[in-house]
Amino acid sequence: MPERVIPLADQRYAAAVPRIPESTPPPTGRVIDRLGRPLRDLRISVTDRCNFRCSYCMPKELFGKDYAFLPHSSLLSFEEITRLTRLFVAHGVGKIRLTGGEPLLRKNVEELVAQLSTLRTPEGKPLDLTLTTNGSLLARKAQALKDAGLARVTVSLDALDDMVFRRMNDVDFPVADVLRAIDRAMEVGLGPVKVNMVVKRGTNDHEIVRMARHFRGSGAVLRFIEYMDVGASNGWRMDEVLPSKEVIARLQAEFGLEPLQAQAVGETAQRWRYMDGAGEIGVISSVTQAFCRDCNRARLSTEGKLFLCLFATRGHDLRALLRGGCSDEQISAAIAPIWQQRDDRYSELRSALPREHDADAAAPKRVEMHYIGG
Ligand code: SAM
Ligand code: SF4
Ligand code: SF4
Repeated sequence: MPERVIPLADQRYAAAVPRIPESTPPPTGRVIDRLGRPLRDLRISVTDRCNFRCSYCMPKELFGKDYAFLPHSSLLSFEEITRLTRLFVAHGVGKIRLTGGEPLLRKNVEELVAQLSTLRTPEGKPLDLTLTTNGSLLARKAQALKDAGLARVTVSLDALDDMVFRRMNDVDFPVADVLRAIDRAMEVGLGPVKVNMVVKRGTNDHEIVRMARHFRGSGAVLRFIEYMDVGASNGWRMDEVLPSKEVIARLQAEFGLEPLQAQAVGETAQRWRYMDGAGEIGVISSVTQAFCRDCNRARLSTEGKLFLCLFATRGHDLRALLRGGCSDEQISAAIAPIWQQRDDRYSELRSALPREHDADAAAPKRVEMHYIGG
């Protein structure tokens, strides 16, 4: 199939239909990219819609009533997602994260979880199946997700102060409901729950110690994420990034902490433990200490484009193959060289890239976080 670039007019981001090799032998198993990184982790965005309007992700001014979200016919069906996931698993993926947008807004998402939970790695192991959510619908869906085979959840929560939290989600959503959802997730066995806090200097950094105090000893693992320049909508500025080093220093001053060894290659968070045994925290330093060297993550967008980096400007249109009648062997044979040719390492290069590039209207647009998933 000749490579063809789909015009931007009918597609939100540039994407090419992958080339299918002339001969399509059975999947060749694990794949390694040009920087020696294996494919291990697939993040699947199940919807581009969200009921929150976090300013760092979907600012209200740009994602208002008139914003055209993807029509339902564009989205990959659960069967299409499961079929693709099976092919990715044959290439080495063992970890799946469902994300979005807000993944719990996708109708009957637990049915997708049930389908994915039947998949096995070539060694016969179940997948590590997780989901990232803003928590707004989690209390009522936690049991169904657990029953469907979800292993764990990550809940995003940026503040304990109700006013600060309502301002950050920008839809006046109360913090108490998210805290209840975290408790419920732990009750039904979707733990240990990870809690993600995006730290914006001057907006919620005064909540760091309070958040740590709240989750210490609770069984939940709090992770502080540096505010990232993802997408092109959030008006990111470096002076709003609070480096993880500073987060750790503030926590050290309050509680004793010591660093922990990484559990797995490619782990995004650097882990620390409270010396009094009250559990651990993590810091994700995507801006100040890039971790591209071990990045083993691929991302599948809501309508089936494969992105190799959170900061990519262009995807690979796997939906065109699914809906164009390609066999599993053909799709699998198309996926392998995409990963093998990967050399993305945006965060390592970030400081060397001119910021004016972002203001250049003609430059290719980076994908938005709500579309590609976190
Ligand atoms: N809606 C779900 C949620 O908020 O958990 C899942 C999707 S959201 C895009 C995934 C994660 O990305 C969340 O933890 C969110 O806080 C994080 N995120 C979004 N924009 C970000 C940014 N500019 N910098 C750092 N993290 C960001
Ligand atoms: Fe929605 Fe999650 Fe983005 Fe917030 S971070 S706007 S909850 S997708
Ligand atoms: Fe991976 Fe791209 Fe993030 Fe680097 S910038 S860690 S390559 S997603």
